[in-house]
Amino acid sequence: MGKPTGFKEFERATIPYADPLVRLKTFDEFIEPVDEGQLKTQGARCMDCGVPFCQSETGCPIDNLIPEWNDLVYRGQWREALDRLHKTNNFPEFTGRVCPAPCEGACVLGIHEPAVTIKNIEQAIIDKGFAEGWVKARPPEKETGKSVGVVGSGPAGLAAAQQLRRVGHAVTVYEREDRIGGLLTYGIPNMKLDKTIVERRLDQMRDEGVDFVTGVEVGTDVTLEQLQERHDAVLLAVGATVPRDLNIEGRELEGIHFAMELLTENTRELLSDGHAPADVAAALEAKGLSAKGKKVIVIGGGDTGTDCIGTSLRHGCASLVNFELMSRPPDERAVDNPWPEWPRIFRVDYGHEEAAASFGEDPREFGVLSKRFVGDGQGRVKGIETVRVEWEQGPDGRMEMREVPGSEQVFEADMVLLAMGFLGPEDHVLGETGIDRDARSNFQAEYGRYATSREGLFAAGDCRRGQSLVVWAIAEGRGAARSIDEFLMGESDLETPD
Ligand SMILES: Cc1cc2nc3c(=O)[nH]c(=O)nc-3n(C[C@H](O)[C@H](O)[C@H](O)COP(=O)(O)OP(=O)(O)OC[C@H]3O[C@@H](n4cnc5c(N)ncnc54)[C@H](O)[C@@H]3O)c2cc1C
Ligand code: SF4
Repeated sequence: MGKPTGFKEFERATIPYADPLVRLKTFDEFIEPVDEGQLKTQGARCMDCGVPFCQSETGCPIDNLIPEWNDLVYRGQWREALDRLHKTNNFPEFTGRVCPAPCEGACVLGIHEPAVTIKNIEQAIIDKGFAEGWVKARPPEKETGKSVGVVGSGPAGLAAAQQLRRVGHAVTVYEREDRIGGLLTYGIPNMKLDKTIVERRLDQMRDEGVDFVTGVEVGTDVTLEQLQERHDAVLLAVGATVPRDLNIEGRELEGIHFAMELLTENTRELLSDGHAPADVAAALEAKGLSAKGKKVIVIGGGDTGTDCIGTSLRHGCASLVNFELMSRPPDERAVDNPWPEWPRIFRVDYGHEEAAASFGEDPREFGVLSKRFVGDGQGRVKGIETVRVEWEQGPDGRMEMREVPGSEQVFEADMVLLAMGFLGPEDHVLGETGIDRDARSNFQAEYGRYATSREGLFAAGDCRRGQSLVVWAIAEGRGAARSIDEFLMGESDLETPD
């Protein structure tokens, strides 16, 4: 809780983003500096509701102790707030920046007033912790003599590695990329999560004794069997990296790319030299990945679609349209989507706001089905033939799609970015191990135990649960660490989300 009457006295005020036309000139983080006074009054809005749904099942997946740290921030006890925050979350600087904040959707105040700004408060606590030098390495007090290999260095692998190292196991993280971080590094763009924020946490982990090995692809450079011989336990945290394709006529045309091709190479270029957006775009020209001067269509929404929009705008695209297959969501919760569920409502994310500021309108076209890519006769894409669709509930209660006759339309495009989600993990990492997979091709391992069908081999994060969120990856990494610790030692004191 904060101040018992705070929710009556203070209005919700979020930390603003920089002006869209200003922030489009750089790849720098767009969140404005935090005002401590404002955060104290926002913490004061936490209302002693009795049952904090924000940290329950429909709220924060990692069980962050939200009312406790809201209260501590209101009272100015930042250091204590940081300790409470780190008790449940290894990396609040990531979630405080990129989490969609299901906690706020479940906030009790949110039933009749705008919810508490939980995510902003989380970010402020950890940023102050780093600024004050309170975040220090916590190497283990004694070594267990056991060794764990973690495959993949996204948030799931990193959370597991930090937890396992802190109880004294030797931990090696294997990553096929040239940099550590998974989608925190090559995926989520710099303007949303500056890569120095990732690096400072990695430095802490190095000081704690976690060993990072980059440029090693498990399943190619070393087999999983070899890794299991080398370590007492192995955790698969390789993410869900197989993108959903759009196999319609013309898919082979030049100028059609998966979203991750652009997002990965953009960050790689940015990190190699620290360029301005125009220089990054120029450097990507040779790879066909510059959006400068192009008519860009992004197919698919979600975080990946929004990040493609923000990146293309920074390159200086000539126009931008974003196709969504689903209908426009309602402005308010529908009756079948009550509190404390995640509100499925119309939202304007940073990329949409930037596109509207650049071109005068929201870039999204809802209820659009792509039928065919149109070529220019020389092997390059020049447009997409589409039809509008409507969604209706079928006899079995499931939503069914219906094409609207006469709604065919061709949209011009010379760059198309496919951001339609991910199907699951890649096969080759498994080699001959042949572990069980679930119906969606994810590595099968019961939630809470994380053990696969092969002794000593565990799985966590997007490769186990399917494409998800950073907060879920951290939750799974922590849970898997506890399971592995129990497997190695017979018992574990590691804390884990319920
Ligand atoms: C563009 C984009 C934007 C997103 N934005 C958000 C957001 O704003 N907020 C949010 O909460 N979530 C967001 N997400 C989702 C979030 O990033 C993921 O849910 C999360 O990163 C999953 O973590 P992970 O550790 O399971 O896997 P990943 O982060 O995918 O990491 C897996 C790692 O394993 C490595 N790897 C794979 N195979 C091998 C191998 N054989 N050998 C060695 N290494 C291997 C990969 O290179 C990668 O580094 C976004 C996702 C994308 C694609
Ligand atoms: S991790 Fe996400 S859900 Fe949990 S408190 Fe932070 S913003 Fe809310």
